[in-house]
Amino acid sequence: MDTLARYDIKFLKGVGESRAKLLASELGIHTFRDLIYTFPFRYVDRSRFYTVDELRPEMPMIQIKGHFIRFTEEGEGVRRRLKGLFSDGKRMMETVWFSRIRQIEGLYKPGEEYIIFGKPSLYRNVWSMAHPEIEKLDSSHPPHGLRGIYSLTEKLRDRQFSARTIGKMVERLLAHERFQNIRDTLPYEIVDAFHLMPLKEALINMHFPQSVENLRKARERMKFEELFYVELHILRFARERGRKIPGLVFPTVGDALWKFYSEVIPFELTNAQKRVLREIRTDMKSGKQMNRLLQGDVGCGKTMVAFMSMLMAFGSGFQSCMMAPTEILATQHYETLKKWGESVGVRVELLTGSTRQSVRNEIHSGLTDGSIHILVGTHALIEDNVEFRNLGLAVVDEQHRFGVMQRARLWRKNKAAPHILVMTATPIPRTLAMTVYGDLEVSVIDELPPGRKPVTTLLRFESQRQSVYSMIGNELKAGRQIYIVYPLVHENEKLSLKSLEEGYVRICDIFNQYKVCFIHGQLKPAEKDWQMNLFTSGKARIMVATTVIEVGVNVPNASVMLIENAERFGLSQLHQLRGRVGRGADQSFCILMTRPDIGGDTRKRLDIMTETTDGFLISEADMKIRGPGDMEGTRQSGLAFNLKIADLVHDGQIVSMAREEAIRVLDTNPALNAGETQTAITSKGEYGLRQLSPPSISMLLRELDIRFARSVDWSRIS
Ligand code: ADP
Ligand code: MG
Repeated sequence: MDTLARYDIKFLKGVGESRAKLLASELGIHTFRDLIYTFPFRYVDRSRFYTVDELRPEMPMIQIKGHFIRFTEEGEGVRRRLKGLFSDGKRMMETVWFSRIRQIEGLYKPGEEYIIFGKPSLYRNVWSMAHPEIEKLDSSHPPHGLRGIYSLTEKLRDRQFSARTIGKMVERLLAHERFQNIRDTLPYEIVDAFHLMPLKEALINMHFPQSVENLRKARERMKFEELFYVELHILRFARERGRKIPGLVFPTVGDALWKFYSEVIPFELTNAQKRVLREIRTDMKSGKQMNRLLQGDVGCGKTMVAFMSMLMAFGSGFQSCMMAPTEILATQHYETLKKWGESVGVRVELLTGSTRQSVRNEIHSGLTDGSIHILVGTHALIEDNVEFRNLGLAVVDEQHRFGVMQRARLWRKNKAAPHILVMTATPIPRTLAMTVYGDLEVSVIDELPPGRKPVTTLLRFESQRQSVYSMIGNELKAGRQIYIVYPLVHENEKLSLKSLEEGYVRICDIFNQYKVCFIHGQLKPAEKDWQMNLFTSGKARIMVATTVIEVGVNVPNASVMLIENAERFGLSQLHQLRGRVGRGADQSFCILMTRPDIGGDTRKRLDIMTETTDGFLISEADMKIRGPGDMEGTRQSGLAFNLKIADLVHDGQIVSMAREEAIRVLDTNPALNAGETQTAITSKGEYGLRQLSPPSISMLLRELDIRFARSVDWSRIS
């Protein structure tokens, strides 16, 4: 395949300089290889023709045979359009163009036979097709089989490119001698083991499927190949990093941890917490640097696990830090950790953007002389002038707000990189975790502390507002506290603040016998703290807020989360907000207030919230609705959304197969490792062996180079 990657697309017959430029700028096609890896996004059954009588609104792209009766132009300016009356011999329908009107009119002649492709739609009882693909009917060459439809851009259409143009270029390429001699991109050992379709056959079938079954096998092969190389790439560098960056060794857990465990914690750890602590402990004495992602639903007790891990560092004479995304959350963590720390002689301090200079100086010296054992803070803590005496563990809470680069800055806080524990309360779908966070080991807390009652979630419309308020009134009478959250509209901060303020005034008015606090992103930190304290201390019984409270706030007495304009929030955000209640022993409620006229998709999203409290199910559903590219964290990565054919929503099984195979191959073939032999991270060999021949290994290396030569080398970030 390397030969195809070396050939400029302009040398393909029928392309030339100017078309090559277009292909490069519009579709990213520079070489022979790029073209052949540009797959149809859909296939049409060429042997099946529909008649106008058979059309149904839910049909995808279909084809109809017939002729145009006449073309007429309608409308003016931007509303100008061209209509073509088209007949299948029995009934008529319309075709419509909103652009390229002049060209279309010149291109097709009434009376001649054509095939039109497109998605039919019914408007005022007339079937029509907008911007159909049109092909001359060639009776000497009857159409057969599946035909690929390639995606085009508006600019390409303007320059007379059709899906057929691309198809013809591919056809010429498949006949080219370079293609005839192409080598497989996967070692035969792997092709064999997984019964994959060989590359050449797969590429032919991707573009010109010989049957539905062949197309399925071809797609499976290409997806596997793509995911296998992504996994191999991620894992190779994770291992290289593991080799280059030695891990700090914590020989003992120390007395503080034992004392805390046996005398201080008022409850029993859940089995999941214990299991994760064992995993972390194993990393900390292994001699390799830990890079671990801790996933667990809101309220499962990650903070406890983080603190006990910090005690492990303390026990071996190391400092720790915990970084949180907001001041409120950092402050809350600080208060929890300080209390716990005091019980076992561990000094905890807080550093945020609003820490006064005098305090800041004290903290800096406490960190360098080692008298501060745990530092909690916001981004402020990765600033360059914050120096530790010997940082051993860095905990990052709520990963999705931090990028890989910020994680890497933590590694530099000690001569030997500290262990890193990244915690996220927005569960990440498994497939996403394996690609986007593929360089992290994953631990999961899949168990909530006992005695928690699942939160009851209710969908309510504006017309039911009074009954919602009377329910809130009852909870208040019973002594409970209430959150009321408004969405933040980024395009118009002033307006959203206005709706928040109006909401606040209304609530103060209705519940005038209770104190109401008011908190949003534009408050000064001191004011935010003050308002926050009103609520955590129980003085204020109602909090009216924007999503600043989304992460981490812990007030067990709160029993109602009322979310205004719930339709404006993403699923993960709603899940986070809901996690703020249900922390005490009593039944809690999450009320999603919404407009009555929400669309079907929005309704579906809100219904998911009322049906399940399982964060993993919700994040999977969220990914299905929004697509993996829009998930939190994905944007910083770069890998997951460059996938051309595999799809993290539907190809979960292939993702795991590809990852397991990549691990197997790396474990068995030290020659593949980016540096010398012997890896620092060795898996437990759970997937068995895959011994590759030397030519197979050099082929893998060559292919990795072609695919990822331009991407970031994660191992060098530190
Ligand atoms: P999260 O995982 O969302 O960060 P927290 O660490 O804030 O969860 O824990 C939520 C609450 O549960 C805290 O009040 C914490 O003290 C409590 N908690 C943690 N572990 C347990 C346990 N094993 N049993 C009972 N309560 C626990
Ligand atoms: Mg938390």
